Amino acid sequence: MRVGILGIAGRMGQELVAQARAAGHDVIGGTLNPASARAYRNDIPALGLPHLAGQSDVVIDFTHADAVAEHARVLSTGRAAWVLGTTGIAPEQQLQVEAASHRIAVLQAAHFGLGINLLMTVARQLAAILPAETYDAEIVEMHHRQKVDAPSGSALLLGQAVAEGRGTTLAAVMESGRDGHCGARATGAIGFASLRGGQIVGEHSLSFTALGEQITLSHRAFDRNIFAAGAMRAAAWLVGRPPGLYGIDEMLDLRPARGHDRQ
Ligand code: NAD
Repeated sequence: MRVGILGIAGRMGQELVAQARAAGHDVIGGTLNPASARAYRNDIPALGLPHLAGQSDVVIDFTHADAVAEHARVLSTGRAAWVLGTTGIAPEQQLQVEAASHRIAVLQAAHFGLGINLLMTVARQLAAILPAETYDAEIVEMHHRQKVDAPSGSALLLGQAVAEGRGTTLAAVMESGRDGHCGARATGAIGFASLRGGQIVGEHSLSFTALGEQITLSHRAFDRNIFAAGAMRAAAWLVGRPPGLYGIDEMLDLRPARGHDRQ
């Protein structure tokens, strides 16, 4: 594949370059943050997004939510498929991603590792069985000190899986950022807590706690190479597919393919 990597100087960007090359793909270039003054030293050329959109089979994007609307606009005019791993995307930015998916194939995931995606499937099933009135669902995540968004994209997806299993929406029951005299936990709430520190790649736990017992699902990512490996697999899966907004559950075959019909 001819691959373009957005945010080539970032942690994920560098890991993606290494993995794409190791797999024998042609990394034709990448973008740099126009606002960053940091020097870039690498043999991968820094190219403009329009060039990458026209010349790549796929571009892989782990950058910043603020860049997403511009990426959606430019990529829609090109031929490259778009693997999107950036998190913290606001609803209006997400609309731009959806608009782009009418023109090009887009695979968007807040977590590209296999383990946490399986965890979401199990979370959905447990939530459908355990009564929300009795089993309090709480999600705790911890990430490295540089992470800019909270709760993490994966924590939100876990919360959505629980909400789906319970036949509700996360927006209706989310309790995040408890602080001070915030009152007792609402029945059926899905609670979130975010911890930050050091260079932790990603830890998530989901517990269902009743008066007499607790069930906990937990996941630890030790190395961000699992995300890059998932993104590279997603890229190979996506190239050649018709326009649409695809999810990683479809690639992993955890749900049937739905393309544009996806809700
Ligand atoms: P990072 O800060 O190390 O890298 C981001 C890079 O993007 C930086 O080099 C930054 O300068 C660059 N950038 C910002 N705006 C840009 C723009 N307009 N054009 C080009 N480059 C731009 O962060 P990271 O740890 O590599 O994570 C990047 C994103 O990926 C974050 O949103 C993070 O939450 C997400 N992430 C997702 C997964 C997943 O599995 N989906 C896994 C890890 C990280």
